Amino acid sequence: MTTSQIQTRHHLMNTAHRPAQIFIRGEGAWLIDADERRYLDWMQGWAVNALGHAPAAVAAALASQAATLLTPSPALHNAPALRLAEKLCALSVFDQVFFANSGAEANEGAIKLARKWGRIHKNGAFQIITFGRAFHGRTLAAMAASGKPGWDALFPPVMPGFARAEFNNLASVTRLIGPQTVAIMLEPVQGEAGVIPASADFMQGLRALCDRHGLLLIVDEVQTGCGRTGPLFAYEQYGIRPDIMVLGKGLGGGVPISALLATDAVSCFEPGDQGGTYCGNPLVCAAGLAVLDTLTAPGFLEHSRARGAQLADGLRRIAHEHGLGEVRGSGMLWALVLDRAQAPLIATAAMDAGLLVNAPNPQCLRFMPPLNSSAAEIAHGLQVLAEVMTTFRRTHTC
Ligand SMILES: *Cc1c(COP(=O)(O)O)cnc(C)c1O
Repeated sequence: MTTSQIQTRHHLMNTAHRPAQIFIRGEGAWLIDADERRYLDWMQGWAVNALGHAPAAVAAALASQAATLLTPSPALHNAPALRLAEKLCALSVFDQVFFANSGAEANEGAIKLARKWGRIHKNGAFQIITFGRAFHGRTLAAMAASGKPGWDALFPPVMPGFARAEFNNLASVTRLIGPQTVAIMLEPVQGEAGVIPASADFMQGLRALCDRHGLLLIVDEVQTGCGRTGPLFAYEQYGIRPDIMVLGKGLGGGVPISALLATDAVSCFEPGDQGGTYCGNPLVCAAGLAVLDTLTAPGFLEHSRARGAQLADGLRRIAHEHGLGEVRGSGMLWALVLDRAQAPLIATAAMDAGLLVNAPNPQCLRFMPPLNSSAAEIAHGLQVLAEVMTTFRRTHTC
């Protein structure tokens, strides 16, 4: 079936502006549409496909697990969940894990855990300080925690219990701390806002504030975790120990699994507090194990960081040539700030030229290639982008 033969799209709810192409296959860094057109994919499902499309390790783990055991019950132990939890704890500063199905759901778990901890240890304190332009997901509580402009007005009433500070502004956090405050929650790099890293001073300052006031530090690493920003987890770059971490996206390499991790001191859920029909099922945990085994293989993250540096160098060259703004990010998560609000138009032109990039806001392009991209793939994408920019600037002057 070709794209033009597939005609009925109106049975899908209209929740996104989608281009006309229908995608039928993926091979590593490449995505292929129904007309057999190939696109170098630097969106990768919004930083989901850590190992690119249809990675062999994940496909093999899924096939084997699918033929063995899919879902015994969330009330029974299964081996892949135990193994994945053990591995995540061994690789991080955390002691216990709860698995969920999406980033938003795991963030809900983090919010619940902080509220429960506040009830037990902090006189019922429940308020969580979050940040302007933060993105924590699309459930009602995760939306209330987010700082996306305009979201407050979408589905009122907004869930109470959150106070919003300004990112990278420690004084704005200090001002909000009161007797009801229980936690501070942030993305180490604000992804949807346009790849805005927390400064080291800010992150270390938040840790010190949490220590001084007895608050929990929650890092939402749904986007930054699992090697995306260079180290296995972005908090490592700051030399701090969070109390709670949330993973999603890259953890399953394209398969829906997320995780809520906590230290022993904070992990206070009891039976009945949290759960979910599919949480920690063996199929998705087998995928998570395959991804983590790959990410932690000797040399993998070093290779990925080198390809990220190659990408950043190329983006800086393009920015310099066209008089564009800042190139920010790390690892395999980068943004190029434009001089004008043309990012969606450029993303469309890039797609026409066979390169998928994302415009998280009108003045910024975001790049999220697979962590295992080759040097040739990075060079190819940069070349296409350079050509697109040159043509675009010629045809869209002023
Ligand atoms: C994508 C994202 C989420 C939401 O994850 P879903 O799986 O879409 O629910 C939460 N936090 C951050 C930082 C994200 O990038």
